Amino acid sequence: MDLPQLAIAALGGTVSMQARNAGEGVVPTVSGETLLASVPELTALARVDVETLGLLPSASLDFEFLLSVLSWANFQIKQGAVGVVITQGTDTLEETAAFFDYLWAHDEPLVVTGAMRSAAQAGADGPANLLDACRVALAENSRLRGVQVVMNGQIHAACRVRKTDSLALQAFSSPAFGPCGMLVENITRYLRPPTPRTVLPLPQQTTQKVAMLEASLSADTLLLENILELGYDGLVLGGFGAGHVSQSWADVIEKIARKIPVIVATRTGSGSTAHSSYGFIGGEMDLIRKGVSMAGFLCPRKARILLWLLIGCQRQDELASFLLED
Ligand code: ASP
Repeated sequence: MDLPQLAIAALGGTVSMQARNAGEGVVPTVSGETLLASVPELTALARVDVETLGLLPSASLDFEFLLSVLSWANFQIKQGAVGVVITQGTDTLEETAAFFDYLWAHDEPLVVTGAMRSAAQAGADGPANLLDACRVALAENSRLRGVQVVMNGQIHAACRVRKTDSLALQAFSSPAFGPCGMLVENITRYLRPPTPRTVLPLPQQTTQKVAMLEASLSADTLLLENILELGYDGLVLGGFGAGHVSQSWADVIEKIARKIPVIVATRTGSGSTAHSSYGFIGGEMDLIRKGVSMAGFLCPRKARILLWLLIGCQRQDELASFLLED
């Protein structure tokens, strides 16, 4: 039987980590080829091309590198792959998945996965997650869905998923939405139909800087006051509750929003920002009047990715429509 072609790239992360010597902490050393050897079942499902594109902790991935990974993935699809799987660290997976999703122009799925337990740890979840991710990437019903995150037997939409636990095996969830699917007896099952996606062109510039700050009780305004002078091109704020800041922050934000795009998201970890509920200074109605965009269901980190990409292709004027779509 002619098996479908599948491409896998390893970037590093816990799934690729083990200790060099007993008693030392784990570091990324395990290649994509070795990861592949941990899932022999895959040979019956697909012809696999595997590459180790990096061996990095995910905190040290950056946009430039992700663009090179994306170009590798685009090439794999052009070469006939029916899907692409990327393994990486889980710490920034919610951000990389959103980054890829905004730029993924194919009907074929791109699936991102990782592990919470390192390669040599008892009960390591890397092989199971990798195999699940490959099954999702090979499934016909994964087409037209953009980028999916597969962890712990669940499938999450890239724009919804968050790492909501630091060390637990069930570290990923999609607050307010839930997983969009799951693996049931190795079969990829979706709970919702695919939704239409807007894909951005590749950024023509990559030097733009988008700052992200979180509102906190009694916070001073020193950093905010210097955002423009520091040369930032955009600002994302994790606001209180439904997207609120203090009166003193609101005054400074008004000046910033006259010059660069400012998005306020909720710092709560779940739910949407409000639009027309609170009228106090620093409430969402006041911020909107001051030129701020509300992030809706997008968390601060994903809002920052979106803004960085929009500025990179000079489409920041369309920010509102992207936030509305969400
Ligand atoms: N703890 C992380 C992980 O789960 C390390 C990283 O993100 O690279 O992979």
